[in-house]
Amino acid sequence: MSGIDLPGFVRVHSGKVRDLYAPLDPSTGVAREDQVLLVASDRISAFDYILDTPIPDKGRVLTQLSLWWFDQLEGVEHHVLSTDVPAEVAGRAVLVRRLEMLPIECVARAFLTGGGLADYRRDGTVSGVPLPPGLEDGSRLPAPIFTPSTKAPVGEHDEPMTMAQVQALVGSQVAARVDVLTRRILGRGNEIASARGILIADTKVEFGIDRSRPDGADGPHLVLADEVLTPDSSRFWPADQWQPGRPQASFDKQFVRDWLLSEASGWRRDSGEPPPPLPEDVVEQTRDRYLEAYHRLTGRTLD
Ligand code: ATP
Ligand code: MG
Repeated sequence: MSGIDLPGFVRVHSGKVRDLYAPLDPSTGVAREDQVLLVASDRISAFDYILDTPIPDKGRVLTQLSLWWFDQLEGVEHHVLSTDVPAEVAGRAVLVRRLEMLPIECVARAFLTGGGLADYRRDGTVSGVPLPPGLEDGSRLPAPIFTPSTKAPVGEHDEPMTMAQVQALVGSQVAARVDVLTRRILGRGNEIASARGILIADTKVEFGIDRSRPDGADGPHLVLADEVLTPDSSRFWPADQWQPGRPQASFDKQFVRDWLLSEASGWRRDSGEPPPPLPEDVVEQTRDRYLEAYHRLTGRTLD
């Protein structure tokens, strides 16, 4: 998960998928603290492991799709400053405002599946939000709900959070604003995606505070950061195959999760062992899904 050497930059962080580099001031050689180069790799993670097998072009898809969405999401301020980046990382990097990231994964759900479905089956609620009875795997919710989770360090699981926990971490003003913003992003995302044959079941976004800007009447200056409405951060379902009551076909990394959990992988999630490398056809089909999501949504193909 190392990243590469980029002249003029120093690496400051490596996440599961992205590497962050601070630009060096050309006159002093000192790292800037107000900007960061966010470089998306082709790494893929599943079940909190970084897999040994990269998915070719994934970094470019995530970067280009996020840029496209930032443009669509009017009224939501985002972190991108420039797409003028070193040739070595062309197409998969953006220069962004370096923010003080909130320690929360802001999740919104428009359809019920995965961890949300498991919670619902237990007591009829998800993250403390009561839902109507009779919902099944893949059911559309009456309206998007906010179901935040903790931001666990690499190798650990994110845990669901209640609104009270979010308030305790970031204050009630910021908590209320990220709740509204996260649901708005998913709502707007689904308006756009549904016209293109895709349902966005759920998504995760991250916000940061720009401390270089003064606080407003509603608190600190919040900015949408990281990636937005990508097949890594969201569940994308083909609308024409959607049928509640069973697992849905998808354009996201569910395909990789399903293979890892299948007999074919020879891996057991509870073994404590890291997952095996992905076979070539799984890599290819995963790549196809990412490209298809990008193409369906934006109408573009990667150059
Ligand atoms: P983590 O880095 O916490 O392990 P991850 O594995 O999902 O999570 P990546 O998506 O690979 O992380 O890396 C992106 C990292 O960059 C995240 O930690 C994210 O919070 C951070 N980040 C995204 N945008 C900004 C920004 N504008 N300023 C500062 N940090 C950012
Ligand atoms: Mg991330």
